[in-house]
Amino acid sequence: MTNSAQKEKIAIAGAGIAGLSAAIALRLAGHPVDIFEAEPKLQPFGAGIQIGPNATRILESWNVALLGTACEPENIEIHNARTGSLLNTVPLREAARARYGAPYVTVLRKDLQNALLSRARDLGAVPKYSSPVTGAEMTKDGFQVTAGGRPYTLDALIGADGIGSAVRKFAWGKKQPVSANAVAWRAILPITAVPEAARKNIGVWMATGGHFVHYPVSGGSSLNGVLVLDDDYRNDGEPDRNDPLPYLLHRLEGWAPQVRETVSSTKAWLPWQLRGLEKWDGGHGRVQCIGDAWHAMRPYLASGGVMAIEDGAALASVLSGKGSIEAKLARFREKRAARVWQVAERSALIGRIYHVAQPFDVVRDLAIKKSSPAKLLERNDWLYNTRV
Ligand SMILES: Cc1cc2nc3c(=O)[nH]c(=O)nc-3n(C[C@H](O)[C@H](O)[C@H](O)COP(=O)(O)OP(=O)(O)OC[C@H]3O[C@@H](n4cnc5c(N)ncnc54)[C@H](O)[C@@H]3O)c2cc1C
Repeated sequence: MTNSAQKEKIAIAGAGIAGLSAAIALRLAGHPVDIFEAEPKLQPFGAGIQIGPNATRILESWNVALLGTACEPENIEIHNARTGSLLNTVPLREAARARYGAPYVTVLRKDLQNALLSRARDLGAVPKYSSPVTGAEMTKDGFQVTAGGRPYTLDALIGADGIGSAVRKFAWGKKQPVSANAVAWRAILPITAVPEAARKNIGVWMATGGHFVHYPVSGGSSLNGVLVLDDDYRNDGEPDRNDPLPYLLHRLEGWAPQVRETVSSTKAWLPWQLRGLEKWDGGHGRVQCIGDAWHAMRPYLASGGVMAIEDGAALASVLSGKGSIEAKLARFREKRAARVWQVAERSALIGRIYHVAQPFDVVRDLAIKKSSPAKLLERNDWLYNTRV
């Protein structure tokens, strides 16, 4: 660890993926860090998460011990969810390591957050729980952040407090998330919910108005399932959404029996209304948002959390440069803006392709079928090859 004496002291609001990543990167760069979390303890929402090589490369460089519980899926199997036909099989496990020099992993969120938390703690960044950040201002004593009702004098505030960010609200007011007009249903499924040959793979099933993804988690002992369906719930004679399985099976009428059977393997589906943020600067002066607080995006490229990890690495890198803290944070925005909004736009595009209406799905399926498997992976070089 380098000498912390002249390094800026940084306050971080939020101990999610973004906040813990920033804390690790900043501590490794020698910055004193205060990390404030609103909740009384770690609360990872959702079930599983995919992490591409652009972020596992960073986690490895930080010595975050992830690989014990994480899985490295062998292939991505892409299907038409109505006919059930397999369109293509994209090699992933060895191919990702060979092509990008880092693994593509799938993991439970709690395992990822525990690994990040444990590394942050080792480095001396212990979150202060039950300490919501509620304000920040320049005073005669310096830049003051209020957290848990107490003032702290630091050099800058990083808002890593998620899509509903209080930092964004008190610093910029109007920027509200917009609905993505889709609901993601999430559940942990028994590994036996898919045939043996599919258990080590990521399965993608596309249909007009929705798609279903499953992948192994917890060392391959279970599966994470995410079912995304367009449109907000309308109470127009459909089964009650509070009893998820009959509702979901109603919505999946016309989908292939394989998908319906896999979805039926549990009743414990939880809905997540998808929302995103439209393009904005993300920061000004001594306050900067990162992760979902800045650029919450649709999940179709599995990259919101990955961008939060990249943000942490990029932040520490710019703060190691010269100039005032304001100038360095402006450089952070210059460095990150094009990247995060490109990923957000591509994520939205992938959603449109996955959910495309008939008869355009025929064109989509043909293009996927005709492509060589290697080409389908290479198409994401722009995402996975980037080094922050
Ligand atoms: C269905 C779905 C699937 C997804 N799949 C993937 C995937 O496979 N791969 C991927 O990379 N991403 C995925 N994402 C996106 C990913 O989950 C998010 O981008 C990521 O969790 C954002 O992390 P964050 O730390 O920015 O925000 P959050 O995880 O929301 O963390 C914010 C933290 O701030 C705290 N907080 C809130 N207010 C305050 C306050 N005032 N003061 C202090 N603390 C506060 C909260 O309690 C929380 O702990 C998916 C998202 C969805 C919805």
